[in-house]
Amino acid sequence: MKISIVIPAYNEEENLSEVAARIKENLTGRYERELIFVDDGSHDNTQHVLRELHRQDPEIHYVALSRNFGHQSALRAGLDYATGDCIISLDADMQHPPQLLPELIGHWLAGYDIVYTQREDDEKLSWFKRSTSNAFYGLMNSLSSVSFEPGTADYRLIDRRVADVVRNSPDVELFLRGFIHWVGFRQKKVAYTPAARFRGKTKYTLRKMVKLAFNGVTSFSVRPLHLATLAGAVVSALAFSYALYALYILLFTNDAVPGWTSTLVSVLFIGGIQLLVLGIMGEYLGRLFVQSKQRPPYLVSETDGGLPVPPPRGS
Ligand code: UDP
Ligand code: MG
Repeated sequence: MKISIVIPAYNEEENLSEVAARIKENLTGRYERELIFVDDGSHDNTQHVLRELHRQDPEIHYVALSRNFGHQSALRAGLDYATGDCIISLDADMQHPPQLLPELIGHWLAGYDIVYTQREDDEKLSWFKRSTSNAFYGLMNSLSSVSFEPGTADYRLIDRRVADVVRNSPDVELFLRGFIHWVGFRQKKVAYTPAARFRGKTKYTLRKMVKLAFNGVTSFSVRPLHLATLAGAVVSALAFSYALYALYILLFTNDAVPGWTSTLVSVLFIGGIQLLVLGIMGEYLGRLFVQSKQRPPYLVSETDGGLPVPPPRGS
């Protein structure tokens, strides 16, 4: 039996050896272990530190990506290279407490295929993080057909067969959180209180969060398209009745036409709705475009010698 731990790291040089040590401390059962760090195109000394860690400890491996592909793609790279019977992913900054590892493994041994964690928000998380996170899950749930539980980030254990499903899925931009819910199997939830970031600052910029949210919504739901259609229908109905009203005024009354305000408002309103609808369609078209190019989700520039090259997707 073998347990793989996947840790995406983007500019985390100061956290790596600490997180590796804490993880190993908490993996003491009678099983093989492997730690796979994915260097997501860091600009600091992350890669150098990882090389050094591997030299000192052959259980520690690394996969370095050719540039910054983003957290989700880094996770995916880690899953592809992991060879364990189960794979646990967690952040490099120790906000995902490694003390939870034995409990996750315990549930897996008891027969669960997916053990995911739910963050119990407390003051350690910034107000900004909590509110953007809540808004994100609220939006996801109102717009999509799969349900997303708030605070379930990417600290989770998945069984080998789930990892194979992920590995073989052809999605170029995979939104793992949604995908893992979607696959089903036997799932178990574990709650935890997040720790403060060990060192450094967050690598999830607002831009990356917005991108993640867009990906999440557009890859799990066509409801925004329905909403767009609905908005179009409502606005046309309103516009049509207003046109009738205007005709009525013109034909049957002698009122003057100081209708500058109403004209302007309706033109702007209809124009705005049209742009919104076009934008929504554009988002989906963009996804199709990205997917149709079939580019790989990440490129690897270097690994340590000890990692076998994963078999090609779909095999
Ligand atoms: N991360 C990554 N690529 C990125 C951004 C982040 O691999 O482009 C990693 C980061 O190193 C960390 C994890 O994803 O291990 C979560 O990021 P972070 O802790 O900065 O996010 P937060 O906890 O603030 O949401
Ligand atoms: Mg963090």
